[in-house]
Amino acid sequence: MRSGGEIVYVAVGANLGDREATFGRAIDALERSAQILLLAASPVFETDPVGPPDQGAYLNAVVALRTWLSPHELLAQLQAIEAELGRDRGREALRWGPRTIDLDLLFYGERCIETPELVVPHPRAHERAFVLRPLAEIAPRYVHPRLGRTIRELVLALAGREGVRPFRSPSGWPGGALSIEVGSASFER
Ligand code: ATP
Ligand code: CA
Ligand code: CA
Repeated sequence: MRSGGEIVYVAVGANLGDREATFGRAIDALERSAQILLLAASPVFETDPVGPPDQGAYLNAVVALRTWLSPHELLAQLQAIEAELGRDRGREALRWGPRTIDLDLLFYGERCIETPELVVPHPRAHERAFVLRPLAEIAPRYVHPRLGRTIRELVLALAGREGVRPFRSPSGWPGGALSIEVGSASFER
């Protein structure tokens, strides 16, 4: 197995079209990416939409990846996968409106990045139940690099968790243990 790289967490969301099929395709696309190794996938949750009204419920999950891409290269790769899976940034442009697939880079190791195109840690991750609930399933002891608090602490501090319900595992979505590299302080499952 290759050494080095960085452990990152990516949020997956979908509320348009065949959400379960999209989740399976997203995993396939990540696994096909050179420079990305899938380490773990959280269970999938169904969540009430946050943002404009009149949109359907989301499926949300979080995956842990090892990557040898830089943060900006990884963002570009995530956006390429979004496009491949049918996200139309013209038609689906409404802020926080419905979308076929949304892949957000939550954390890149312990790095803090602030550029016009990329902010890491994701600036709204810590206040979103639909991110923290699944993340807490695979990384409860990960410490938020800006807030200095664990994911477990952040999820417990959160109101509005009732809008996030366990959902069956879509076909093609990894269930149970994946092969995990050991020896990383920031990773557990
Ligand atoms: P939110 O960021 O609140 O979850 P969103 O996912 O709906 O909103 P998008 O329309 O998908 O927002 O993305 C808008 C822009 O956010 C992207 O073009 C990208 O450059 C930028 N961006 C900044 N930081 C990140 C990040 N950590 N992950 C993904 N995109 C980011
Ligand atoms: Ca998002
Ligand atoms: Ca996004």
